[in-house]
Amino acid sequence: MKKTITDFDIKDKKVIIRCDLNVPIENGVILDDNRINESLSTIKYALDNNAKVILLSHLGRIKTEEDKLINDLKPVADRLSELLNQKVMFVNETRGTVLEKTINNMKNGDIILVQNTRYEDFPDNKESSNDEELGKYWASLGDIFINDAFGTAHRSHASNVGIAKHLPSGVGFLMEKELDMLGNLLDSPKKPYVAIMGGAKMKDKIKVMDKLIEKADYILLGGGIANTFLVAKGIDVKSSVYDEESVEYALMLMSKYKDKIVLPLDGYGSTEYKDGLEVYYSDINDIKDGVMVLDLGPKTLELFKKYLINCKTVFWNGPIGVNYFKNFEYGTKTLCEILKNTNAKVVVGGGDSAAAVINLGYKDSFTHISTGGGASLEFIEGKELPGIKSIDNK
Ligand code: ADP
Ligand code: MG
Repeated sequence: MKKTITDFDIKDKKVIIRCDLNVPIENGVILDDNRINESLSTIKYALDNNAKVILLSHLGRIKTEEDKLINDLKPVADRLSELLNQKVMFVNETRGTVLEKTINNMKNGDIILVQNTRYEDFPDNKESSNDEELGKYWASLGDIFINDAFGTAHRSHASNVGIAKHLPSGVGFLMEKELDMLGNLLDSPKKPYVAIMGGAKMKDKIKVMDKLIEKADYILLGGGIANTFLVAKGIDVKSSVYDEESVEYALMLMSKYKDKIVLPLDGYGSTEYKDGLEVYYSDINDIKDGVMVLDLGPKTLELFKKYLINCKTVFWNGPIGVNYFKNFEYGTKTLCEILKNTNAKVVVGGGDSAAAVINLGYKDSFTHISTGGGASLEFIEGKELPGIKSIDNK
């Protein structure tokens, strides 16, 4: 068990909290503040308990000087001030005398946000390469380190692993919730347990699939992943996306777990990977020449419903269609509706999956939508994530 923020006496202490405040920003305007909201509980706890709160986060990627302009964390400080109803002081540097003086002048219950940790990536990649001196410097600014950034837990960076090495450390409430929710899927999921996988690229997901198929009672497949299995079964998917290199693997899985794998029966398609063109519906055995399947059809969703209606646990990764095309959102949206109406514990993981569920309006309908895209998948694979490993045990 990892230490959490509640294991420390944080009063009067300078508490560095590594959050994932990596939100989409366009021209200084925050497009979606979900990640900021998810970070609030740990921040509020630290403020309520009279700590001096120093927030660190990355934003986007910094490869050039221009990247700094578009990945300035200032708008996040402003939004945080609104949400906390308290001034969040923004320090426009990642190291130096202004930062050090500001911290020295903090009183209990004060909060600052430091500029984007990845400013340290230009020109010499110090944050992302977990530069020893940088981690040590940031650690020197505080007394306790709390890692609440699940989204970067699969990376070994100076602002997570680097700092943890030099300070007493624990996880925040969001990280704790992620570990609890995702960990349960691997350790003791209530049965029946159904996994759903979609998305485009099968190759990237093979290890996740290996794990899920071993743990779950059934695995329902959609998207490009399903197409690869259909090809393996000898079905002509015509122009649909599939992964030639993974066909053999799909064959192997189907022979090993014949009764666990559930494949589509029908779908909607188009002649191009585009929205707004003519939509073709067909049985999966009868796809028209030149058509690529971009969504699942009603027969498939009825079939999926039979597996989902009485199950106790669901893990879903990967949209089952190209949900951001209006013409092809049907499958993913209908799946959300089915899941909303079950009593199952439903956990969604993966960057595009989480975005799909939130954009389609189902943010509050499920047990947990993971804030970690790649991190949640690496966790499900069973990998030990460096951002978590580096935190002190109880
Ligand atoms: P996640 O980020 O949640 O792990 P992925 O990145 O694996 O999910 O998958 C999302 C992508 O899969 C989206 O770009 C979506 O358009 C694509 N996709 C879903 N269904 C299909 C399909 N039938 N054909 C091609 N692409 C698809
Ligand atoms: Mg993705």
